[in-house]
Amino acid sequence: MSLQELTRADSTARVAPRGRTASSAADLIERARRVAAVAGQFAVDVDRHGRFPAEAIAAAKAEGLMGVMAPKSLGGLGVGLSELSEVCYTLAQGCAATAMIYAMHQVKVACVVRHGTNSPWIRAFIRKLTNEQLLIASSTTEGKGGGDVRSSEAPVERDGSRISLQRDATVISYGAQADAIVTTARRAADSAASDQVLVVLLASDYTLEPTLSWDALGMRGTCSGGFNLVATGDAAQVMATPYEAIHGQSMVPAAHILWASTWAGIAAAAVEKARKYLRKSMKGGADLPPSAPYFSRATASLRALRAMITTMVDRYEAITDDPDALSTMEFQTAISLLKVDASELAVQTVMSALRVGGLSSYRNDTDVSIGRHLRDVLSSPIMINNDRILANVATATLLSDVGASLRS
Ligand SMILES: Cc1cc2nc3c(=O)[nH]c(=O)nc-3n(C[C@H](O)[C@H](O)[C@H](O)COP(=O)(O)OP(=O)(O)OC[C@H]3O[C@@H](n4cnc5c(N)ncnc54)[C@H](O)[C@@H]3O)c2cc1C
Repeated sequence: MSLQELTRADSTARVAPRGRTASSAADLIERARRVAAVAGQFAVDVDRHGRFPAEAIAAAKAEGLMGVMAPKSLGGLGVGLSELSEVCYTLAQGCAATAMIYAMHQVKVACVVRHGTNSPWIRAFIRKLTNEQLLIASSTTEGKGGGDVRSSEAPVERDGSRISLQRDATVISYGAQADAIVTTARRAADSAASDQVLVVLLASDYTLEPTLSWDALGMRGTCSGGFNLVATGDAAQVMATPYEAIHGQSMVPAAHILWASTWAGIAAAAVEKARKYLRKSMKGGADLPPSAPYFSRATASLRALRAMITTMVDRYEAITDDPDALSTMEFQTAISLLKVDASELAVQTVMSALRVGGLSSYRNDTDVSIGRHLRDVLSSPIMINNDRILANVATATLLSDVGASLRS
């Protein structure tokens, strides 16, 4: 879409009604709670039918939650990852798929807001996002490349001021429901696979031909099918900052913090079921059931998980305006390992909660069933596989050690 068309659409846009913009962190969480209540109402149906959580996302839009990370000058609230971490945690207690959709959306908003505001096209896009409460999907997974985010096959083709892109996007969560897609791509046909750019596409810029369905164990409502993405657009839709910088400074920190917060929310929902089971079993003055020690384990690991996320959010926010500090080996290793450790701790917490309720929680037909939470949380170690992350961290550490010994 050209800048003229984008700004024309913007001037006629549905402006957020009064009262829609959250004024403080507490207000933001209050709004998130209302959305979580809607999400929780439909979570079982979303999971059963593997359908998009339309009601919850509509509620998030109605509460004005989609563009809160944008600067105030562009219609947002300029909130950071600490507030958004709490929003994802809150939403996930209602419906994990809703929270993960919101998390993935905000990861893309973080990239665009942090690296795009020098561009008139991107600024107009952010304005449209806040005015119209757009939902943005992410496309990084391509062909047989799996979770290798730092490599792209399909190049951006240029013809004067126009661009085109055709991509075998093997996973795009809520691709069919999104208002825009932010995708990685090879810079040009003669560029290396790791020489990537980020391209911002509005729904009118692309077509999606379904190639893979999404009938998964958990996170069924994310509707993470595969598509053949065919897009055309304006050259200004290619972000000027190389993806390599966006990846380390924004994409990975936002993804790992917001995904981890979502998994913590799933764990909290499971712990709540375990608490409910214990209360029911002790009704009328009965003894503590023998499975109670697992409750201590579940609550302790949930606390550890929450503390781990808070520590990393604080660390990120302390250096957020310093690209050099964000690029250090220490920070990149810590933010990578957050994803690995948080996913493992979240699975462990849900497993402990399951052991509290035993058969009652194993069954799908009780009010203390853990089934959905367990299936949802099991996506966490494979969503960019922990093995791949650990192997990458090990390689980077070894290279850095070799470099240090050569210098000494
Ligand atoms: C709920 C959900 C939503 C998603 N949404 C999106 C989305 O919206 N957009 C998008 O682009 N993608 C999305 N993805 C995909 C995700 O980003 C990764 O691409 C995907 O999880 C990679 O899965 P994979 O197992 O196919 O690939 P890989 O990461 O390649 O892993 C395949 C296997 O190889 C092993 N492996 C790979 N590399 C190594 C290594 N270096 N060392 C040791 N073992 C290794 C792994 O252990 C694994 O068993 C989503 C995934 C999930 C679970």
